[in-house]
Amino acid sequence: MNFVKFYNGVEIPQVGLGVFRTKSGEETVNAVKYALDAGYRHIDTAKIYGNEESVGEAILNSGIDRKDIFITTKLWNQDIREHRTREAFEESLKRLKTDYVDLYLIHWPADGYEDAWLEMEKLYQEGKIRAIGVSNFHQHHFESLMKKATIKPMVNQIEAHPYFTNQELIDFYLKQGIQVEVWSPLGGTGGNLLEDPLISKLAEKYGKTNAQIVIRWHMQRNTIVLPKSVHKERIESNIDVFNFVLSDEDMALISGLERHTRVGSDPDHFDF
Ligand code: NDP
Repeated sequence: MNFVKFYNGVEIPQVGLGVFRTKSGEETVNAVKYALDAGYRHIDTAKIYGNEESVGEAILNSGIDRKDIFITTKLWNQDIREHRTREAFEESLKRLKTDYVDLYLIHWPADGYEDAWLEMEKLYQEGKIRAIGVSNFHQHHFESLMKKATIKPMVNQIEAHPYFTNQELIDFYLKQGIQVEVWSPLGGTGGNLLEDPLISKLAEKYGKTNAQIVIRWHMQRNTIVLPKSVHKERIESNIDVFNFVLSDEDMALISGLERHTRVGSDPDHFDF
C-alpha cells in the first residue's frame, strides 16, 4: 500500500473503499469485509450514506486493530446549517463504534461552513479527529474559509476522473500543501468511462482491468482514490494496482479524454 502524508504528519492509504450507495446492513458489512481481507485499510463513509453503523460493525468484527484502519466520515449539510457540528460528530462516532475518526470532512460548502469548521478545529484539538478537511470546495470556498480558520484543511475531496480531470483545482490545492482525494474516480455509478475504447486498449496493453488503469492514473497524479464496489472480485482487483506504472505518454492520453462533464453537482449549485 502507498501512503500519502498530510501536512500534520498523519498518513492516509492512497487507495480507500468508497461506500456511497452501498446499502446499510449486509451489503456494507460484506463490502468492508472483502476490502479488509484484500488489504484495504481505509474506508470512506458519510453520515448521509446511512451506513456508518455497518462500517463500524464490519471493522469491529474484523479483529484488525482500530489504529490500523483509516476511517473517514463527513459532516452533513443540514447539520452545518443547523449549527450542530459537535452533536453530529458524536452521533457518527457512536454509529461507527469508535472513539475517534481519522478524517472528518465538511461534506459540501453549505451555509455556515465557516462556523462548522471552527467547531471541527476544536474537536481536532481535543484529539477526537486525527485530521480535518473539506469536500467539494472550489478555490473561493477555501479562501472564504481561511478568513476565519486558524487551521488549514489537510485535504479536499472532490470529483475527478478522466472525463472531468479537475486538474486546475487539484493543482491549486496541492500547491497549498493540501492533499486531494477524488470521488467518482471510476466515473461514478451508471457512468460509461470504464467502457471507453482508450481505457480498454490500455487495459489490454498493460494486462490490467479497465478500472485498474483508471485507478493507477489517479495515483500517478498524486491524488488519493476512493473506488466504490460491492463485489468481492472488483474490490480485490481495484486495490491490486501497485505492481505496474503507466508511461507518461499513456498518462497524457488518459488525461486527453477530458470532456469537462461532471457526474455530480457543481459545488456552486447544489440543492441539497
Ligand atoms: P466510483 O467512480 O467509485 O464508481 C462506482 C461504480 O463503479 C459502481 O457502479 C461500481 O459497481 C462500479 N465498479 C467498481 N469497480 C469496478 C470494476 N472493477 N469494474 C467495473 N465496475 C466497477 O463512484 P462513486 O460515486 O461511488 O465514488 C467513489 C466514492 O467516493 C464513494 O463511494 C464515496 O465514498 C465518495 N464520494 C464522495 C462524494 C462527496 O461529495 N464527497 C460524492 C460521491 C462519492 P458495483 O458496486 O456494482 O461493483
